[in-house]
Amino acid sequence: MIPEADILIVGGGLGGVAAALAACRAGRSVVLTEETDWIGGQLTSQAVPPDEHPWVEQFGTTASYRQLREGIRQWYRQWYPMRSQALALKDLNPGAGRVSKLCHEPRVALAVLEAMLAPHRAAGRLTVLTDHRPVTAESDNDVVRAVTLEHRYDGTRVTLAARYVLDATETGELLDLAGVEHACGAEARSEYDEPHAPDRAQPLNQQGITVCFALSHHEGEDHTVDRPADYDFWRAYRPDFWPGPLLGFGAPDPRTLEPVSRTFVPNPDHDPLAVSADQSTDAGDKELWGFRRILAHRMHRPGAFDSDITLVNWPLNDYWLKPLVGAGAQTGAEAVAEARQLSLSVLYWLQTEAPRPDGGTGLPGLRLRPDVTGTADGLAKAPYVRESRRIKAVTTVTEHDVAIDLVGPYGGTRHRDSVGVGGYRIDLHPSTGGDTYIDIGSVPFEIPLGALVPRRVRNLLPAGKNIGTTHITNGCFRLHPVEWNIGEAAGALAAHCLAEDVEPHQVQAEDKRFEEFARRLDRDGVQRHWPDVRGY
Ligand SMILES: Cc1cc2nc3c(=O)[nH]c(=O)nc-3n(C[C@H](O)[C@H](O)[C@H](O)COP(=O)(O)OP(=O)(O)OC[C@H]3O[C@@H](n4cnc5c(N)ncnc54)[C@H](O)[C@@H]3O)c2cc1C
Repeated sequence: MIPEADILIVGGGLGGVAAALAACRAGRSVVLTEETDWIGGQLTSQAVPPDEHPWVEQFGTTASYRQLREGIRQWYRQWYPMRSQALALKDLNPGAGRVSKLCHEPRVALAVLEAMLAPHRAAGRLTVLTDHRPVTAESDNDVVRAVTLEHRYDGTRVTLAARYVLDATETGELLDLAGVEHACGAEARSEYDEPHAPDRAQPLNQQGITVCFALSHHEGEDHTVDRPADYDFWRAYRPDFWPGPLLGFGAPDPRTLEPVSRTFVPNPDHDPLAVSADQSTDAGDKELWGFRRILAHRMHRPGAFDSDITLVNWPLNDYWLKPLVGAGAQTGAEAVAEARQLSLSVLYWLQTEAPRPDGGTGLPGLRLRPDVTGTADGLAKAPYVRESRRIKAVTTVTEHDVAIDLVGPYGGTRHRDSVGVGGYRIDLHPSTGGDTYIDIGSVPFEIPLGALVPRRVRNLLPAGKNIGTTHITNGCFRLHPVEWNIGEAAGALAAHCLAEDVEPHQVQAEDKRFEEFARRLDRDGVQRHWPDVRGY
């Protein structure tokens, strides 16, 4: 039997886990549900190593996010046969990937997240319900009373009630199920006067999703997969804003849109300890093997591993032909199925037809790694979702708050109700509305509590990518540390409201109440303001 909890958190991604930690730390009872069998979302079931701002080793995250990062490093130091030079590095990048200073395997993130939750589970405060997805929600008088979840495989249903309900799903499922006012896709320019917004609202214009997968390479072996059913379609597909076929190494540079030819060299000779990951100086995406490498075999004692492991989350496998949300469950399911076919087609193309540096074609030694993603078919358990439904909140963060051309390099809007910080370029991937990359320089920003407080509903809080941003500003808020910070603030807010017998909108609106809440965040090590560092 599942105990009734103070706080129900639906969605066990990074926002959901951070929310659960914050609420449990405040002594509240929590039920956390998750659609797959792995908590951790972007870092685990979606197989996306962290995208972070360049100052992450020094500041600009919450203390608990730093704990997660340090726990991941510690895991490698303790359990992996690392060379002594690697062990000595304080800022160890386990996979020596270029996308992040902390490229690592999904299972390691899973282990550390589980470890962080373990004391709260042992105390009986936290129940985690995996393999459950929300199917209905009951509301009355602007209060969400209960959520019904269904087991993914056997179809059994369970209805859970709680005083606060947090939507930490990847797609803002509860906003839809509970009839909470929300936006989807691109807003019209008239709504917030954003320079990059289209003239008319385009709810079905959403950034592409990506089904990631992991690869190693074994020279002389043949790991070629079966030819995917949709291979001919994807092989012939050429987007009109692309320099050639999608299945090719030519793709636009996301920042300049100039055609760039990527290289792909498995298990390169270079020393992984010499790799520097700093997206403010180089996006690191021109050499695809090293871009999201999550294990560098040369970092370990000779013979321990015969290949690196790299994650494929590239321009080639972004899928944007159908929207994931807002067009019905059938269309969303088709989008995921087609995205999976695209990823398998990318793999098959790499194994059989991709040009090799030596002039030949195909690398049959590329081995799909189901063991890394924890699935039978080798693809990640869930698609990487860049853009969710977004709640209509008291505050909406727009381009005017964060775009470097609009606010200057030294800082975005300072919010009196800041509950955290983040930083990333606005990085919109090609979309279901036919847009190519939209890349906008942005400044380190603050997360206003108003973006977490619904305009109407009183006890539901967004705890992930579903807060009050726009299609455009979602492009810098969707990253791992921001999602974590949002979840942590939402979990802390629910716990605070229960302890003080107040409601979220009061905490946001009244200075004195907000200051009480802010003291709680400060105590927990949530950084709410930036030092004056420059955007890029
Ligand atoms: C105000 C401030 C506080 C910092 N606090 C910390 C800290 O607490 N811990 C930490 O580890 N690192 C901190 N840093 C970051 C660290 O010092 C950076 O690594 C370093 O500033 C980078 O130097 P740079 O010349 O490469 O970078 P850039 O950031 O490109 O240039 C820094 C230059 O920006 C200008 N600048 C910055 N802010 C402003 C402003 N508000 N108004 C006008 N000019 C401005 C200054 O002239 C400065 O010389 C801080 C940086 C700044 C600017």
